[in-house]
Amino acid sequence: MTNCPECEATVPNHDKIPGEVFPCIDCGTELEVLKTDPFAVQPAPKEAEDWGE
Ligand SMILES: [Zn+2]
Repeated sequence: MTNCPECEATVPNHDKIPGEVFPCIDCGTELEVLKTDPFAVQPAPKEAEDWGE
């Protein structure tokens, strides 16, 4: 497991795969799985609110 980069909550890697995006169970931040061995995550890039113009 690893820790949420936003709130430091423990993030289990149960059945996670690289590239998967899931919400932190504690703060709700969308996290993207970078790799599983060792398990590492990063805040997922926001896709909304970037329409501009
Ligand atoms: Zn969190």
